[in-house]
Amino acid sequence: MCGIVGYIGKNEKAKDVILKGLERLEYRGYDSAGIAYSLDNKVNIQKENGRVENLKDNICFSKKSNIGIGHTRWATHGRPSKENSHPHKCNKITIVHNGIIENYIELKEELKKLGYTFLSETDTEVACALLDYLYSKTNDMVKAIELFKDKAKGSYAIGALCDDDLNTLYAIKNNSPLIIGIGDNENYIASDVPAILDFTNKYIILEDGEFAKIDSDNIVVYDKENNITNKEIKEFEGNLGDIDKNGYDHFMLKEIYEQPEVTKRMIESYVDQNNDIIKDMPDLSKYKNITIVACGSAMHAGLIGKSLIEEFGNIPVNVEIASEFRYKKLFIDEDTLVIAISQSGETADTLEAVKIANKKGCDTLGIVNVNGSSIARETSKVLYTKAGPEIAVATTKAYSAQNTLLSFIAYSLAKNCKDKDKLAYLNTFLKDLNKLPVLMQEILNNHEEYENIAKEIYDKNDIFFIGRAIDYALCMEGSLKLKEISYIHSEAYPAGELKHGTISLIDEGTPVIGIVTDEKIADKTISNIKEVKSRGANVIYVTTDELNKNGDFYDKKIIIPKTNKLLEPLLTIIPLQLISYYVAKCNKCDIDKPKNLAKSVTVE
Ligand code: GLU
Repeated sequence: MCGIVGYIGKNEKAKDVILKGLERLEYRGYDSAGIAYSLDNKVNIQKENGRVENLKDNICFSKKSNIGIGHTRWATHGRPSKENSHPHKCNKITIVHNGIIENYIELKEELKKLGYTFLSETDTEVACALLDYLYSKTNDMVKAIELFKDKAKGSYAIGALCDDDLNTLYAIKNNSPLIIGIGDNENYIASDVPAILDFTNKYIILEDGEFAKIDSDNIVVYDKENNITNKEIKEFEGNLGDIDKNGYDHFMLKEIYEQPEVTKRMIESYVDQNNDIIKDMPDLSKYKNITIVACGSAMHAGLIGKSLIEEFGNIPVNVEIASEFRYKKLFIDEDTLVIAISQSGETADTLEAVKIANKKGCDTLGIVNVNGSSIARETSKVLYTKAGPEIAVATTKAYSAQNTLLSFIAYSLAKNCKDKDKLAYLNTFLKDLNKLPVLMQEILNNHEEYENIAKEIYDKNDIFFIGRAIDYALCMEGSLKLKEISYIHSEAYPAGELKHGTISLIDEGTPVIGIVTDEKIADKTISNIKEVKSRGANVIYVTTDELNKNGDFYDKKIIIPKTNKLLEPLLTIIPLQLISYYVAKCNKCDIDKPKNLAKSVTVE
């Protein structure tokens, strides 16, 4: 969520590097931005509500600067405003911060008694005052940070400057991601790798409780116990093109169109075509049940996984919203496999759920996109989604890749249990999987059809999605996508539940997207679609080639090409993603950076 970028270097590029880095992090969602940099050996601060673009106008670019820290804020404590935005400065200390200082109220009271006054409503300004106080007592930044770690509770990635030494940059990390980039005669800090990729692809990941003292040539990292530690230097394997729009109007559109390529990549990485097995799978046969923990779209992928694993793998699956899982009575033990799904691998609630499951003695399996992320490190086994950097806040290709891995899990389990009814699907799984990228592309080629539907419905106030079983899980994702980027009210409903209340919301012309991909329940769902049609709904009927029925119960029909049941959701979701995209486009919304949303939610 939000972002930090910092620079220290003999090449004196602080302002350019930080502003470029903040732009690279814009995809994470934010409401204000700011920068602190040294000018004539003094710290100069500029901050603005709104976009990084607004900041640039007020910055003096004529003089070079050797050190600075920048921030994009996603407000948690105090409304979005210039005063609350970062950096915050208190006497000699200037900081930027991602996360939440949970005990900031107590700390603020203590600091007020010591004479500190506060200009903002943030927890961050309190952290800044605390560090300043500890520095005033020790005259040593390393000692002050050690004491700070004992006093401040909660999550923090912090970049800090001290007026007494504007040749050193400090980085502190606890429960919020922070990396250190390594350059020539210059070094960087950032909350995520894309921020520094224009300058270097070498970086170090800080772990919880670690901090670093950084100058142009040296990086000294201190571990949890405050001892100097050696860190592994990593190299980012992708390239800068992965984080550019490559001619598409929006990252979201580019990422929707990348889905065939991502699927191909996953087939290459995970499928042993000769032996008809999925590689790298843990031994799934030893578990009696599975619990999936995730948030948002990843949770919706979990619901698809539940349907497929229960149906084909024949073991019970419980899907838990991670923020709820943390606070409820749990019935998991060593017979449970806990699967944690997260694009960023930094989702705070999901990460915490993994820690709880580990403590309970469960095996944990991470399904994440970002290599080496916190969830990847915390789980006992990790399967990477290999979707490449996902920049648009609303996930598309990473969600699909999560579904692909879940279908691999269902397939691996199904092969063990050899359910005769399922043999036809299992026998053709690999063949169908290999054809999937082409079918995805066919759907993408029909984009005009979805654009026309969007033009018909973009000005409506409410849009409903209905379906049963796995189709309901798809409805939830379709509806969320639409809400996220177009701000239109939308609800996903199990088709049979509609008449228990929600049908009263259907009026003449209300768009209802009805999804029917499962033969067993097709007639039942079609009856429910007829119920809304007869009350005036404008029905968009999404169904498969096999189930394609004509009738007067719909206004528009979208046909999903025939494929394996284990893979069908990967096709059905694409028209829903594109309809959301075009509806948002018709409404001139900020598609890649929807209001109030952040890409990687690193706070509870
Ligand atoms: N809690 C801090 C604030 O509200 C930091 C938020 C962030 O991570 O951007 O200012």
